[in-house]
Amino acid sequence: MRSSPRRARRYAAALALPLAITLNALPALADPSSDPVPPDRPSSTAQNGVALMRVVVADRSGVDRLAALGVDLAEYSKPVDGGIEVHAVLSPDEARSLRDQGFDVRDAISDQSDFAENQAARRQALAAASADAAATDTLTPLRAEWFTSLDDQRFLSVEVKTSATDAQTVLTATWDSGPGTAPDSGGTATMSRFTDAGQYMYHRFNSPLPITQAPTTVTVTSNRGGSITVPVTKWLGEPRKAPGKHYVQDFVDHYMDPTEITGRIVALSKEFPKISEIIDLPYKTNGYRRQAQAQFGTGSGSALASTFYVTSKAYGSEGGNDVSVALVNPGTASAPLSVAVSGKDVVVNLATDASGAVTSTASQVVAALSGSSAASALLTASLYRTSTGTGVVAAAPATKLTDGLKAPANVSRQPFQMKALRIGKSRNGSKTGVFLYCQEHAREWVTPITCVETAERLLRNYAQDPDTRKLVDDLDIFVVPTINPDGAHYSMYDYNMQRRNMVNYCAADAADPGRRNSWGVDLNRNFSVGSVRDGYNGGSTTCTSDTFAGPAELSEPETRNEVWLTEKFPNIKFAMNTHSYGGYFMWPPGAYKTAGRETLPRTDLGTEEYFWNASTHILSAVQGWRGTAIWPGRTGPVVDVLYSAAGNSADEFWYNKGIIGWDFEVGADVYDQATKQYTAVGFQPPFDEGHEEAMEFSNGQIGILEVARAYDKDKQRPDSTLVVTGRTGTSTTFTFTVDEPANVYYTLDGSRPTLSSPKLTSSGMREGAAKISIDKTTEVHWFAMDLAGNVEKNYKPDGDGRNYNKETVEVGDSR
Ligand SMILES: [Zn+2]
Repeated sequence: MRSSPRRARRYAAALALPLAITLNALPALADPSSDPVPPDRPSSTAQNGVALMRVVVADRSGVDRLAALGVDLAEYSKPVDGGIEVHAVLSPDEARSLRDQGFDVRDAISDQSDFAENQAARRQALAAASADAAATDTLTPLRAEWFTSLDDQRFLSVEVKTSATDAQTVLTATWDSGPGTAPDSGGTATMSRFTDAGQYMYHRFNSPLPITQAPTTVTVTSNRGGSITVPVTKWLGEPRKAPGKHYVQDFVDHYMDPTEITGRIVALSKEFPKISEIIDLPYKTNGYRRQAQAQFGTGSGSALASTFYVTSKAYGSEGGNDVSVALVNPGTASAPLSVAVSGKDVVVNLATDASGAVTSTASQVVAALSGSSAASALLTASLYRTSTGTGVVAAAPATKLTDGLKAPANVSRQPFQMKALRIGKSRNGSKTGVFLYCQEHAREWVTPITCVETAERLLRNYAQDPDTRKLVDDLDIFVVPTINPDGAHYSMYDYNMQRRNMVNYCAADAADPGRRNSWGVDLNRNFSVGSVRDGYNGGSTTCTSDTFAGPAELSEPETRNEVWLTEKFPNIKFAMNTHSYGGYFMWPPGAYKTAGRETLPRTDLGTEEYFWNASTHILSAVQGWRGTAIWPGRTGPVVDVLYSAAGNSADEFWYNKGIIGWDFEVGADVYDQATKQYTAVGFQPPFDEGHEEAMEFSNGQIGILEVARAYDKDKQRPDSTLVVTGRTGTSTTFTFTVDEPANVYYTLDGSRPTLSSPKLTSSGMREGAAKISIDKTTEVHWFAMDLAGNVEKNYKPDGDGRNYNKETVEVGDSR
């Protein structure tokens, strides 16, 4: 077995950290609010106090050095470019200190915005640890799967939950190497403990483990005495039908900006007018434009007090870039401060004292500019950040204000007309609608070309390919390839890491030109369900945060356009929100409140099982392009596999409209056979890689359309069975099984079951159907209904027929 002894040693080292050091270190953080946010954190959401930070070390000796320093390491370690990524709980001071010692401390994994809460969770965990210490734990299997990815390399993925949730519980997995082999012949490895928002979730491998043979069973044992053996099933790999002989694909050969992308879908609609049309979305964006600005003074050190900046009233493209400001030393003694405006040239004549030295401070110049009606028609003047304005300004030659925007002239500086390409033979609202949208986040360059590729495959294959014809004939497909055109233009031409749109909501203290890359609204946090304003985690109200949720829910035209589309076309039943990167397939709920990790309501059991079924089909389609397997651990509800994203669009559609809102993250980690390492692909990989991602996830989008069509065509009624699962002298437990994903509604009081009757629930995340317990002999009435609305035996829940299922479940002696 390859790496397990080393893994075991590594985790043993982490666990051997003296607990006392960790505990003593924490109270030293007493006043977290006074600590500045570490400078390189991507999302500065009220981040005070400790955070779980990424640290990259060159090799295991680096891990050992961290351990020797008493650093609070998580049991997480992942091979990354240039070494090993480990995670450590650090205060800003501790992070700084480690950086000073040469450690590569990177960004935060989880925001512990409430330090007291974090402390309470720790105390709770420690209390639980001592309470649990004596008891044997119970292990619940969540998944055990093997799969192949890329060059037929095989991988094992296992997730198991233990009842002993403290950090001292260590789970070890052992597996065989195929039918008839010894139970430990495949290998053994220590599992990692996955926690989120301070809560234990389950144990897993951080990355799927490379294996040589497909195992039949895996046994997981706990140092607390628990043990469980479960079968290992195959994940994905559903044989894909090869595309037809005349099927054409691969239409994108470079990253495209939103102007190009939109031009492309307009051209497609003109080429295929019978099966497509363009829909102009009603809310224009603010546009790829900004006010022009100029700053006087460097803002640093002693120059802070004399630094100020000016911002044009007009957008740069509408005259702001023509405005200039000069600060003139009059060269005479005892001159007054005055402002003169000629056309768009503003001249500030600075005041001097009796010796002829300039005396005007930044505050005085700002006041003089604001007091001049001619100047304030052209611009506003503001003190820089925390500047007191008491410093005397320096004379400066006429300085042109600029919006700084670098896109070529063909990129319009006007509000952007967002467009949807509607594809379908019958576009009259009678067909099941599917909404495919891409690039809510500007820097995710692979996503718009994924959407365009999908649209083009549908249109160009319609004439020759019968499978494509079925999709276009039977569905009503809406494709918006770029939801964030302004931000995406900015990402492509000005600042490639731009995530948000371009609208600046910052007040003067954060609106100077140096903050120009920190403005904008995170569109996938601007929606109205489970938002930061509703108390959910993962959005920010700070205007410079990369997850800034905007000044209000749905404040942005881009997000209102999405909502408008789903309201205008109520036949839309499926939506796919395509992002990058990481290789994920996810669904609601997508947000939780940090306190208690209270999620938005989980989908019911039937829906959840429907999602799992669909994921097999959709992810096998992704795998069909070049073999990429989306990991089992990266498939599932957003809150289980990624993080909380308050106010995202998939939750908006699901909770407000019942639209099945899925999310893709294109760009799965790429596995290198030679180094046996997974590496992340990033937002803008070299186009060769970006192209492959677009092709495989376009396969996935086509897979979604196939799932939607199957839903549309589903006339099959579900068939359910009552199963007794246990009896004692005084009670009996039972549950139901169904032959397809469906919900079961039941009554225990002899009444007619309806859609208001109790629904069979899940017993926990990925733990299957709950068991129902009764303490007296009961006639159970029930029926099953699938997602497409087909009801078992054609029973009418709102009618008065009696053709539901009936079965008497006995308890105790009456048996
Ligand atoms: Zn994104």
